[in-house]
Amino acid sequence: MTGILAFSLASAEGLPRSALELVAAAEQLREELGDGIVQVALLGPDAASYAETLIHHGADEVLVASSPELQSYKTELILAVLETAIEQVSPAVILFPADTVGGEVAPRLAYRLGVGIVTDCVGFEVEPPPSSPPKLGGKEGGQSLGGERGGGCIRWLRPVYGGKAMAYMVAKGPLQIATFRQRAFEPLPEDTSRQGKVQALQVELEPALAQVSLVEEVREEVEGISLDEAEIVIGGGRGMGGPESFSELETLAEILRGAVGSSRPPADSGWVPHAKLIGQTGKILSPSLYIAIGISGAPQHMAGISAARTIVAINKDEDAPIFKVAHLGVVDDWRQVIPALIRACRELVGD
Ligand SMILES: Cc1cc2nc3c(=O)[nH]c(=O)nc-3n(C[C@H](O)[C@H](O)[C@H](O)COP(=O)(O)OP(=O)(O)OC[C@H]3O[C@@H](n4cnc5c(N)ncnc54)[C@H](O)[C@@H]3O)c2cc1C
Repeated sequence: MTGILAFSLASAEGLPRSALELVAAAEQLREELGDGIVQVALLGPDAASYAETLIHHGADEVLVASSPELQSYKTELILAVLETAIEQVSPAVILFPADTVGGEVAPRLAYRLGVGIVTDCVGFEVEPPPSSPPKLGGKEGGQSLGGERGGGCIRWLRPVYGGKAMAYMVAKGPLQIATFRQRAFEPLPEDTSRQGKVQALQVELEPALAQVSLVEEVREEVEGISLDEAEIVIGGGRGMGGPESFSELETLAEILRGAVGSSRPPADSGWVPHAKLIGQTGKILSPSLYIAIGISGAPQHMAGISAARTIVAINKDEDAPIFKVAHLGVVDDWRQVIPALIRACRELVGD
């Protein structure tokens, strides 16, 4: 049976939402391959306490390694656990979140296993299995999963050229590794009647193996929903004119239960904290809705938001490049539009 293994690192703060998103992605993949089992390698200081949650959201089997040593940047220890999990369950596909941990661990794992990796994915499709055995290095270069058990070739979808285009990628080899952007998949609804298997991974962790340790973590205090997790993101650009204007965006975000981000000029000018920067050198997001206000739509900015399902642009220049990618656009001064939008949204939510 094709094992689809999702990786998750639970921190002291809890299980990241990406864990549930990856289980949903694995479940969809299992369905499209027509075969398989959804497994999770769950690591972290208190990992065992989250195993049931993963089963209730679609996992069939959870392989747990609980240890205070298993935390961000302890890449070598995480890899040791993963290698044990892989030996134990021989998965055909391994999914990682495209976050700091996934970005550190997944490429190293691919190198160690000598297999292909596709990073930053937002989707996939499964080609029907060929009638004759697939040719490695052929036109597509891929290999079908599951062989005679009926699996197909997975084509991983990811943004390319700074988000200006989407491309399907195929990785060679019977084992595939992919990292997924946040919010590319919605978690499956919770079903507390679901049953699954929980197995402890027996790994001797040698703390000395870790080459890097976290000395100090400096965090911005986030009030409300964090930018990474927000389903609705409101981005302000140079056209906002100054720091005080961002309070209007915060008001709108509060009503819509979203989060505020920015393009580079507001972050560089200190109008907003640097953690709000969206783009090539900032956060890469995949919200359901992105409202870009006073943002021209430079490629470096769009690289961070091209996977948004719907983009709405408010800009006073009708020739602004953002209108080429926006699904909806308002050509006007934001000072006219935002107060009216706030009023309308308040009425809608009965605030
Ligand atoms: C190596 C490199 C990396 C970069 N990385 C990033 C990155 O990660 N993220 C990023 O954002 N940028 C990045 N940039 C910068 C990027 O190239 C653009 O300069 C930047 O995105 C422009 O920001 P903006 O759209 O807010 O400003 P502008 O391009 O100046 O656009 C402002 C817009 O606001 C509109 N406007 C003005 N007043 C109003 C008003 N009252 N109402 C409505 N609309 C109004 C204008 O018509 C204009 O379209 C990078 C650049 C380089 C070279």
